[in-house]
Amino acid sequence: MEQSSQRIKPLEPHIVLFGVGGVGRDILIKASRFLVGHCPSIRVTIESVDDADFALNEDRGQYDAKKILRELERRLPENALKGIGVTWHDLFLPMLSYVYGTAQVEGRCAVFSLRRLHPGFYSPKETDNVELFDCRIEKTLLHEIAHTFGLTHCHSPECVMFSSCRIEDTDCKNSHFCPSCAELFQWMIEKALGLPPQEAPNI
Ligand SMILES: [Zn+2]
Ligand SMILES: [Zn+2]
Repeated sequence: MEQSSQRIKPLEPHIVLFGVGGVGRDILIKASRFLVGHCPSIRVTIESVDDADFALNEDRGQYDAKKILRELERRLPENALKGIGVTWHDLFLPMLSYVYGTAQVEGRCAVFSLRRLHPGFYSPKETDNVELFDCRIEKTLLHEIAHTFGLTHCHSPECVMFSSCRIEDTDCKNSHFCPSCAELFQWMIEKALGLPPQEAPNI
C-alpha cells in the first residue's frame, strides 16, 4: 500500500496522506487503511511535512488550517488525485475557535487534526480508548476527503457528511455515507478516475 511517490507511474492516480508536524507511523498506516477501505480503487501513499511552524499563530497557540492546505497543495505531485494532511496540532479558521478539519470542496487538499478527536482531550480516564479514537479518525478522514471529491454537508445526523460542530456530532454519526451521499461519492470517484461516464445520480 505504501510506496514512495517516485515509484508511481506518471498518470496513476493516488491519494497522498501527509503526516504534518510529526505524526507516528502507526497512525499514518491506520489512516491509510481507512482510506483504502473507503476508496478501494485508489492507492494511498504516505509523505511527511515535518515542520508545521509556518502555520503557527502564536497569539492563538493554534495552527492556521488554510496555510496548511496551501502547503499541501504546493507539495502534492501533479499525478496525485488528492492530498490529505493529518496532524496533532490544534487547527483553526479565522472565524472559528477551532476546527476538526477542513477541505477544499472539489479541490485537491484537506487536513484534519487528531487533537480534539483524542478521547484524552475530554477526559483523562478515556486516554486509552483506542477504539473511540480510531472511530473518530475514520469518520473525520472520510468526511474531509469526500469534501475534496465535491460532497457537501448532509442533513442526516447519521451520515458521515453531517457537519460536526461538537465531538458528540462526530460520535453520533456513522463511519459511512447515507445512501444518497454513497451514490454521489461513488460517482465522483469514478469521474475523478476518468472511468466511462455514468448517468449522474439524481440527488
Ligand atoms: Zn465538513
Ligand atoms: Zn448523506
